[in-house]
Amino acid sequence: MASPPIYLDCHATTPVDRRVLQAMEPYFCEQFGNDSSHHYYGWQAATAIKHARQRLAEAIQAQPEQLIFTSGATEANNLAIKGVAEAYFAKGKHLVTVQTEHSAVLAPCHYLESLGFEVTYLPVNQSGLLDLELLENSLRPDTILVSVMAANNEIGVLQPLAQIGEICHRHQVLFHTDAAQAIAKIPLDVEALQIDLLSLTAHKVYGPKGIGALYRRRKLPTVQLAPQMQGGGQEEGLRSGTLPTPLIVGLAEAIALGLAERETESQRQRHLRDRLWQGLQDLGGVVLNGDLDQRLPNNLNVSITGVKGTSLLLALQPYLALSAGSACSVATANPSHVLTALGRSPDLARASLRFGLGRFTTATEIETAIALITQTVKHLRTSRQ
Ligand SMILES: *Cc1c(COP(=O)(O)O)cnc(C)c1O
Repeated sequence: MASPPIYLDCHATTPVDRRVLQAMEPYFCEQFGNDSSHHYYGWQAATAIKHARQRLAEAIQAQPEQLIFTSGATEANNLAIKGVAEAYFAKGKHLVTVQTEHSAVLAPCHYLESLGFEVTYLPVNQSGLLDLELLENSLRPDTILVSVMAANNEIGVLQPLAQIGEICHRHQVLFHTDAAQAIAKIPLDVEALQIDLLSLTAHKVYGPKGIGALYRRRKLPTVQLAPQMQGGGQEEGLRSGTLPTPLIVGLAEAIALGLAERETESQRQRHLRDRLWQGLQDLGGVVLNGDLDQRLPNNLNVSITGVKGTSLLLALQPYLALSAGSACSVATANPSHVLTALGRSPDLARASLRFGLGRFTTATEIETAIALITQTVKHLRTSRQ
């Protein structure tokens, strides 16, 4: 049988690192208790969760009691955005976000608009970066929340969190950041960056799917949140539901590992990414999407002129697992809202390739990818598809 395609889609998800799996193992069949139970098994789970919470807090310079476990970044974003809107609507009904956000931020914002809230969707410049003056000018007395992602899931662009935090703090507006792509890849210190709410997830950093967390500031100011899930009152009533001990242990382990290996892995992946970019440029007519410097080290996003996006992806599919734009935009064949926000034409946006390199990507795989893409693009360009 032919070998499976090379995986270059680490912004969609990543495999679980075996070390993470090993850390989770004892909490499935042996230490399986419910942490709410007042007996031996419950205490075992409670101890494991307490330890994981502590480790996760340390990773972002937070306090353990400031973390709320959720099913992932989608739920954390929903809790942050809708939870703040519901808790602060008496103060104001205006929110600010950015056009290039993930749908897990944009969709809750659209929903709030349907309830009578007002949302400003700020544009970005050609490199995908937010204009800070534009941000500051968009703030109003009735603005309750600014939500700007740390790293973009399509183009890997890193927004200037420290400056955004400073502006929000000065205007006494809460600052939420979706850090699903950034956690354990760039330093994230919620104190230094003046972040009030931060969403994270495990499955983009070699942890299990179905677990994430929301960091919520609890002093200066204490952020009020309306729960979006009612039930047994877990997580101080902010997120009911039995805590999934193995997943929580896996989340903490994945992020701790990511941080421990961050510098060496960033360097290694950046080197491979730069080689990929250099190799693809030899084709000519290859346009980089997003800023090259303010960018995740494992991301590359290019548009290729003279080919149809769907033909290119179809031709590569048996050999390379990657996507155009985000994971979901392929199926809909709509051009990526991120690339159109950068000013790319619909055709050029469709003829894009998003590369997400990862911990298990090798130099050989990158050379193979360059050769395959070069051959395919040359063929498509001459055959006029
Ligand atoms: C993947 C991703 C999400 C969704 O995270 P889940 O844990 O899958 O819910 C949200 N925001 C960004 C930026 C992402 O990359």
